[in-house]
Amino acid sequence: MIVTEPQPDQRSESHKRPVVTLSNVSKVFSSGTVALSTMSMTVEPGEFVSLLGPSGCGKSTALRIIAGLGGVSSGSVDWPSSRINAKGLPEGDIGFVFQEPTLLPWQTVFGNVYLPLRLQGVSKAAATSTVLETLDTVGLKDFADAYPRQLSGGMKMRVSIARALVTNPKLLLMDEPFAALDEITRQKLNDDVLRLWRETGITVIFVTHSVFEAAYLSNRIVVMKARPGRVHADFPITTSLERDAHYRTSEEYRQ
Ligand code: ADP
Ligand code: MG
Repeated sequence: MIVTEPQPDQRSESHKRPVVTLSNVSKVFSSGTVALSTMSMTVEPGEFVSLLGPSGCGKSTALRIIAGLGGVSSGSVDWPSSRINAKGLPEGDIGFVFQEPTLLPWQTVFGNVYLPLRLQGVSKAAATSTVLETLDTVGLKDFADAYPRQLSGGMKMRVSIARALVTNPKLLLMDEPFAALDEITRQKLNDDVLRLWRETGITVIFVTHSVFEAAYLSNRIVVMKARPGRVHADFPITTSLERDAHYRTSEEYRQ
């Protein structure tokens, strides 16, 4: 009798690999500015990590490197659970939300959210239901035909979030997304992001200046220090959100 070994489930195995790992990353700009020096961190699937630190400590630079948008001067960055293209960069697994919504003013809300799929060669007909569902998750289904100039700052930010999510990324990067918004809008968006995180299982790295926001949202805080930029402290958050964090990282959740 031949007894076959149980094969490892490829999908759940890849699910357990880190989403991104920075190993001793340094970044020196051509101006000579050392933005990052020997920065190391690993983000596991399902984490909600806040990246906190003073202006100029390299948060945006680190986020761009994590997104594959900026090269490193030394050290390495890996995306162990992503498909890697010929340039050594992750393919389509990362959504990015910038502080400025950067929407195309001549495109409707639908057109702006469709854009990443269009760039992937998906036809409008094939993309329509995905775009509308994504708009629904950020509460903007009724605004598909509106233009950015007709929207409030908070609504524009929701469109940016929908645009980042429409490709169904594993990792969502947000660079001080709500810093320019009023407190009430910001709180609503915080709750929406938390809901998305809980419902979708997405991994989030959220850059903020606000200790309060970081504590409210995350299950882990990475504090950076300036000159040169590097990790100063890295700790889990133990608040009422701990329960969610535990749930998100439990074996049960991963299956
Ligand atoms: P943070 O997002 O924490 O405010 P940044 O990552 O934007 O910090 O910047 C880190 C440092 O690198 C700063 O000193 C900044 O001036 C510098 N820097 C950022 N981008 C560039 C660039 N494209 N060219 C030269 N210097 C840069
Ligand atoms: Mg920044």
